[in-house]
Amino acid sequence: MTEGVFPVDIGPQYEGEVIRKTDMRIEFGGPNVRSKFELVAIKEPAEIVHEKVEVVGPDIAEFPEESSQPIALLVEIGGSRLEKDIEPVLERRLHLYLNYIEGVYHMNQRQDIWIRLRKDSFNKGLNSLKILGDMLIFLYSSEIDIIEKIQVTFITDGSKVEELLPRAMQVYGARDEKARGLREADVEEFYSCALCQSFAPTHICCITPERIANCGAINWFDGKAAYQLDPEGPIQAVKKGEILDAVRGEYTGANQLALEKSMGAYNKVYLHSAFAYPHTSCGCFQAICFYIPEVDAFGIVHRDFEGDTVIGAPFTTLAGDTSGGRQVEGFLGIALEYLRSPSFLKADGGWYRIVWMPQIIKELFRDACPMDLYDKIATENDVHNVEELVEFLDRVEHPWVKGEIKLPV
Ligand code: SF4
Repeated sequence: MTEGVFPVDIGPQYEGEVIRKTDMRIEFGGPNVRSKFELVAIKEPAEIVHEKVEVVGPDIAEFPEESSQPIALLVEIGGSRLEKDIEPVLERRLHLYLNYIEGVYHMNQRQDIWIRLRKDSFNKGLNSLKILGDMLIFLYSSEIDIIEKIQVTFITDGSKVEELLPRAMQVYGARDEKARGLREADVEEFYSCALCQSFAPTHICCITPERIANCGAINWFDGKAAYQLDPEGPIQAVKKGEILDAVRGEYTGANQLALEKSMGAYNKVYLHSAFAYPHTSCGCFQAICFYIPEVDAFGIVHRDFEGDTVIGAPFTTLAGDTSGGRQVEGFLGIALEYLRSPSFLKADGGWYRIVWMPQIIKELFRDACPMDLYDKIATENDVHNVEELVEFLDRVEHPWVKGEIKLPV
């Protein structure tokens, strides 16, 4: 596609390429790094130096081989037809474009990003973030014609990344806030995203006002903006169709989407249940709802949780069970923002069926948790295994365990 222009090739054939630890020259972000994020901002064209790429902190070659480093990736874009609303859509394109680059792997989003560079691509000459920035500018400019100006900044100085992260979190929070008032009943269209099919070919995200995409990076408004920007792109409008099951969140439009985009692997999807026909999970989900059979209830674990969950497995093991574009009963990849949805696991008992979650998530989502339940959900500070969990739930009289919660029919 770009022979001779850059040291390595660019093209969709490189999507889905996984880089093992032993093959990597360096990784930025990922589970071993606390501070990392990516952010796209729309700016006034006058504020942007077109095609400028800046690296603040050491560059790739200055870091030890096979090391994990902090990163902030900032892309600033200007154009008279670009509006603020489009920022999350352009930001999600980083996942697509970085994975187009030979020997580059990009996973996750926002404050969870994970970028790896393969040794052979480094040896071919992709040895500076400046080159990576030039490649991103090339991809953005050639794929989205309403971009008039673009500049890219990589920050690898850990203290600076840490300093800027709270501001990025505010931006993400404001985007999520915007979508909270809208309901599935208010719209005629949902949006589908196929961006992760390179890693999970039968996975398709169905994005509704009450179910933000698994990665947490695309809500219903973002889906709408993305479709308007690029009607032939990876995000498509889906006619909602008839509602077949209001409790489980089953719609004819979502079923049709599942059938077509999973290549026949499944033909039914419940948007708000972890049982029977749950929404599929690729690998970019922010958290997992996992079934705990001993208490017939769910735990939640997020990507950054270190150590074992209450069932004795860490996030990575559960992610393996959940991912791959399959419908796995009892394992649901979700965005954390979905915890704020009025339809969160509606068919299965919602928040009242949750019995364990990391302390940090419990605190961050206190506003979404029913007040009478907050102290009855165990964390890693309360219990360490299922035996202790059973004892805890009995002691605090968790309403699900006491049989006080009736499932909607
Ligand atoms: S998780 Fe879903 S919405 Fe997010 S990029 Fe992947 S397919 Fe698209």
